[in-house]
Amino acid sequence: MTVTSKATCEDLDASDPLAVQRSMFSLPEATLYLDGNSLGALPRSTAAKLDKVITEQWGAGLISSWEGHGWWAKPLELGDRLAPLIGAAPGEVVVGDSTSINLFKVLAAALGLRPGRRVVVADARHFPSDGYVIEGLCALLPGCQVRTVEGDDRRLAEAIDDSVAAVVADHVDYRYSTVRDMSEVTSRAHSRGALAIWDLSHSAGAIAVALDRDEVDFAVGCTYKYLNGGPGAPAFLFAAQRHLETARQPLSGWSGHADPFGFSAGYKPAPGVARFLCSTPAILSLAAVEASLDIWDSVDLAAVVDKGARLGDLMIELVEARFPDGAMTLASPRRASERGNHVAFRHPRAAELIARLAARSVIADFRPPDILRFGMAPLYLRYVDIWDSVEVLSEVLGAVD
Ligand SMILES: *Cc1c(COP(=O)(O)O)cnc(C)c1O
Repeated sequence: MTVTSKATCEDLDASDPLAVQRSMFSLPEATLYLDGNSLGALPRSTAAKLDKVITEQWGAGLISSWEGHGWWAKPLELGDRLAPLIGAAPGEVVVGDSTSINLFKVLAAALGLRPGRRVVVADARHFPSDGYVIEGLCALLPGCQVRTVEGDDRRLAEAIDDSVAAVVADHVDYRYSTVRDMSEVTSRAHSRGALAIWDLSHSAGAIAVALDRDEVDFAVGCTYKYLNGGPGAPAFLFAAQRHLETARQPLSGWSGHADPFGFSAGYKPAPGVARFLCSTPAILSLAAVEASLDIWDSVDLAAVVDKGARLGDLMIELVEARFPDGAMTLASPRRASERGNHVAFRHPRAAELIARLAARSVIADFRPPDILRFGMAPLYLRYVDIWDSVEVLSEVLGAVD
């Protein structure tokens, strides 16, 4: 793709199969929002949906809504609706708690399935919270050891030996957007008798994910990034069908009990993926996730993946054409197939640039030490938005040079 004018971008928008989805989001006028990978935009239907749940279900229905409006079953119902986005089957996904908490649950479950093994291989590139959780869980287990691995997929895979219980890795790395080879790392783990746990926070709703095809054991991820569930929205948790009857997780609250309303003494895990639940579902937050899934249900995922790749390619092309002197250096993979849906560049004054962009209503992220991160949410970003953002970037860069 060679794009030399804004008119070309307008043509691309005119033939964009996802153009209709943009109208389903409420975006502030004159803001170019390149941060949908951090906090997804607000669907237009969310406020009305929440209002209905609050007034009709909570206000009028009161406690009868647990049954009458299916509140109790929401984590499983929404899990089934989210499953196709990550290549999972119905009955393998729940929505609830947070990504960090869900990671604690699935890692503990994985360690339980591999008694006698006490090494966890951790991806050094992961989002720091994942590392903190792995550390925290291991500190509870005598003899547990974290093996943090730097490097590419091969290095990560090679670190998995017969002492390893599980490997935990981010599918798309939050900083540089590098995509890990889920199939390669997972199959290496299995060949050594270990389990594979993936964090999909930056891949769900952005790139192709095939958990069942790749035989992934467990996965977790956010719904407030590309999935537009709102700030702090409940996360998802995937457990492969083959582990559902044997896996046990330690946050054994009543929601994951086989008979929560039996109020009996002693924990008995629910059959199926419900055993990964812990507490009373956060109904209002789940309603916002539901509003977002109403949009995702109608979306062709292949078109999302394709457009995300094109937007990223366009960003790279325009930035490199504008700054041939290398003032901004690409920190993400150049090939779209190796990249998630954000693009990172390096600049020594990245923090200042991001602040100056924000002052001009171009919203992107700074990540230390020198990374500018631009998120390409395919459902509501237009090709012209990329063009306009790079225009502003070049003006802003002129001001700091
Ligand atoms: C955003 C993100 C998280 C956030 O976890 P929370 O528990 O929701 O705060 C975790 N992991 C990854 C990879 C992320 O990108």
